[in-house]
Amino acid sequence: AAASAPPLPPVMVAVFNQKGGVAKTTTACNLAVSLTAFGYRVLLVDLDTQGNATASFGVAPLPTEGAFEVITGRADIADVALDTAYEGLWLLPATQSLRDNDHLLTPSGRRRGLLEARLAGTGVDIVVVDCPPSLAAATSTALASATAVLMPVHPDPFAHDGLVNTWYEICRVRETVNYQLGVAGILLTMTEPDPTGADVARVIRAEFGDQVLDVEIPAKVKVAEAAHLGLPVTVLDPDGPAGLSYVEATREMLALLARQNRHWAHLPQA
Ligand code: ADP
Ligand code: MG
Repeated sequence: AAASAPPLPPVMVAVFNQKGGVAKTTTACNLAVSLTAFGYRVLLVDLDTQGNATASFGVAPLPTEGAFEVITGRADIADVALDTAYEGLWLLPATQSLRDNDHLLTPSGRRRGLLEARLAGTGVDIVVVDCPPSLAAATSTALASATAVLMPVHPDPFAHDGLVNTWYEICRVRETVNYQLGVAGILLTMTEPDPTGADVARVIRAEFGDQVLDVEIPAKVKVAEAAHLGLPVTVLDPDGPAGLSYVEATREMLALLARQNRHWAHLPQA
């Protein structure tokens, strides 16, 4: 009999921007839940020591084993990933150890592909990684393994500089550890009908072109209310403007990934 091929690792989308407070965690959680609605089996990995994504799924306090233990080979993903209230969505939580041992996830090539390797054979289609707002080693680990990066950007006056810096980091990762790193989209978040924000958004669209998703996530109190209740807005208020825009952003991201190539050829079509 022919030797069976090793299991393919899932497509991994890292949600990253060097700036804090731009809706990375909100985007990661809503994206993860929306992807399950498209029929995918999804794993949300919380790599931010603040554990906001973990808390968003009602897990508190932080467990003792999670993403850090899996990446460093101290625990098996099957034992550590948590079920969520959503069918087809599992959570690999942040832990206290992630905060204390970030240096162990060396940003060098040593950890390259490790997360990817740990996730192969889990039967998950898509991994969504919530990154910290910095170039912590956890971020490097995620970017070294990721298929593509989704960059939430809040179009405030300094957003353009922040995005350019984040873009340089993506380029650096491509030149060193992960030359295949793709772009899952630049997503304008918390947008308001103010002229300054609209102008910044226009500049970003002009400069980054097709990589900017058409849909924008409007600033809505429902989003914060949902977070407070431990629910994604796509669940609390599915027909509201923010919930609908996150579903549309998910659809656009999948289309953008499909236009790029072979690494997600094995992803079942939405
Ligand atoms: P990050 O992970 O980038 O630090 P968060 O996702 O934690 O950002 O979002 C920062 C804050 O903004 C949170 O309080 C969140 O509830 C709020 N927020 C995110 N998106 C929206 C939105 N579309 N409308 C209103 N508030 C939002
Ligand atoms: Mg966050």
